[in-house]
Amino acid sequence: MTVTVRFVGSGDSFGSGGRFQTCIVVDGPASRVAIDFGASSLIALARQGIEPNSLAAILLTHLHGDHCGGVPFLLIDAMLASRRTRPLTIAGPRDLRRRMNDIREALFPGSGVMTPKFPLEWIEMEPGRRYDVLDLGVTPVEARHTRETHPSALRVEVGDKVVAYTGDGEWTEALEAVGRGADLLIAECYFFAKPVKWHLNYPDIAAHRDHFGAKRIVLTHMSREMLAHADAVPEECAYDGLAITL
Ligand SMILES: [Zn+2]
Ligand SMILES: [Zn+2]
Repeated sequence: MTVTVRFVGSGDSFGSGGRFQTCIVVDGPASRVAIDFGASSLIALARQGIEPNSLAAILLTHLHGDHCGGVPFLLIDAMLASRRTRPLTIAGPRDLRRRMNDIREALFPGSGVMTPKFPLEWIEMEPGRRYDVLDLGVTPVEARHTRETHPSALRVEVGDKVVAYTGDGEWTEALEAVGRGADLLIAECYFFAKPVKWHLNYPDIAAHRDHFGAKRIVLTHMSREMLAHADAVPEECAYDGLAITL
């Protein structure tokens, strides 16, 4: 049984390296889902030739725009342009539905009168519990990042594989549990040398790489400063379009 993980967007919030914001598409045995869906994700999907309606679910780590800001665009596209009929599940942190509706109404005033013609399910997850999302097992783990975003890392069981993602956030021991035994750990690596609060930076990766216990680690969400060193570090670094088969 194979699982494919595709970095549709491997960038940070600010367009560093011309990369799209976070969007990681996972093809499992029964469904295709996206982990995070930054504001640029519809464009990034089109660049990769991936039809938005092929996504059965969106899993969100936290409520920063570069990780969730594409959801209103996805919903409007599904209602107006792509004419979606298949169900869509959106799972993420608490307050997800209200915040997404607020953003949608801010970006597309009056869009609140539109009703999806497809079944739309919202799942608001609390850290530390395991949730069934379609055929996946999803466990959010609290992350140390901007508190107002309700930040989490995610451990996703898909088929007989585990894909773990740190989301955004400083190193905490809880991240070890997220990555332990995972077939793939996707770790943010924001800065190479500069210490930046609320993020995982390269010195943390180097210090804790072995503590994660993951079979494979790929770094993502790199700033310009980190991208300048990406070719020199021993770790594998993501780029838009990188596909990994597990
Ligand atoms: Zn981010
Ligand atoms: Zn963030």
